[in-house]
Amino acid sequence: MVIRVQFHFVSVLLIYIFIGYVYSAGESNGKMIIPPPVKDLGKDYKLRIVYFVPSDKQIKRNYKEKTEVLMRVVADVYNRELKANGFDTEGLDFEFDDKGSPLVHLVKGKRKSIFYRGDPLDLDHLLNSQQQEIWEQTGFSRNRPTLVFSEAGPVAEARPMPQVYSGLACVSASALSDEVTSLSIVEHIGRLCQSANFTKKQSQVSQTTNGVIIHEIGHIFGMLHDTSDSRNIMMRGYDNLGKMFNSKYANQRPVRFSKAHARIASFSRFLSKSFDMSDDEPPNIKRFEIVSPVNEGDQTIKVSIEISDNSGLGSVVVMQRGGGQIDALTGDFEPKKAEKINRRFELKSPKNFVKGQPVILIMNCMDANGNLAQSVLRTNVNPKKNQSVE
Ligand SMILES: [Zn+2]
Repeated sequence: MVIRVQFHFVSVLLIYIFIGYVYSAGESNGKMIIPPPVKDLGKDYKLRIVYFVPSDKQIKRNYKEKTEVLMRVVADVYNRELKANGFDTEGLDFEFDDKGSPLVHLVKGKRKSIFYRGDPLDLDHLLNSQQQEIWEQTGFSRNRPTLVFSEAGPVAEARPMPQVYSGLACVSASALSDEVTSLSIVEHIGRLCQSANFTKKQSQVSQTTNGVIIHEIGHIFGMLHDTSDSRNIMMRGYDNLGKMFNSKYANQRPVRFSKAHARIASFSRFLSKSFDMSDDEPPNIKRFEIVSPVNEGDQTIKVSIEISDNSGLGSVVVMQRGGGQIDALTGDFEPKKAEKINRRFELKSPKNFVKGQPVILIMNCMDANGNLAQSVLRTNVNPKKNQSVE
């Protein structure tokens, strides 16, 4: 009996290995790229993973294994994309249990899902109430930004807490369902690449779901939205995540972090190779001002900034928000660890400004030791002078 069971197990294993080799990556016939297993890197700054299950929801089978599969994809994308942008990193680190498997904290909510979600959906309440119970059960998360797979509601949202190298990124626990994520990494990559076993729709759901996780964690590392390239993960590039794992496309970086974002992530304590832990002083933003009025029809804004930092500045990015336009990265530069920046520079909006439009500019500035400062600037667009006679 025992022998037969073992034999069966071995044959199942062989079939899996065999399938792994003959899978073609979708209609293109490229080979699939299988991301390596995640391993404990022993860092002080790690991503914590929580599975949050309200009292009226079922715990999904194999949630630990599914999480590990998803995180192999996430870690591999961060690794490859940071390196492709020229930044050296050892990669993302996670908490591990004493058996050497990635740790997933199962947090059973005290209340039913409707309490957390609200009716109608109240996103702030959802995040706050979950965070409260997660902290009660896992401890406060200094140095541990938390990725939550939530059974409480369909959500994809991130709240960075850079002052304590932490934050909360929350995604729907549908990511852990059999319809979205496979138990084996080979089959999951097959899903992302739309191999013969999966329909286009199935593949799309899995690509988007796994991609959203990469995107939300990105916010924790100081990345903002970025419409400058449709391949950007901080845009909707993650919808094509499968191409990253298809050898035919992978070297063209079909899904990517822009250089500006890779740079800010590379200085975060989760991806930086060397930093001074004793420095917890964020950059001092002394000035972030618009130099001249923004007029209807303009596409650029001149700003003046003055920033200083005792350890040197690593990265500055500026995003534009609002006015009916989606968020967009409008400028960035590489301070090259300068201790002081005092200069003007030009931001380029993706669209021309329209009369009366509110303009909100958000600047994220990270020092060489992973401390983040943010400044927000608001202005309105003036009508063109020759039209203001009426
Ligand atoms: Zn986002």
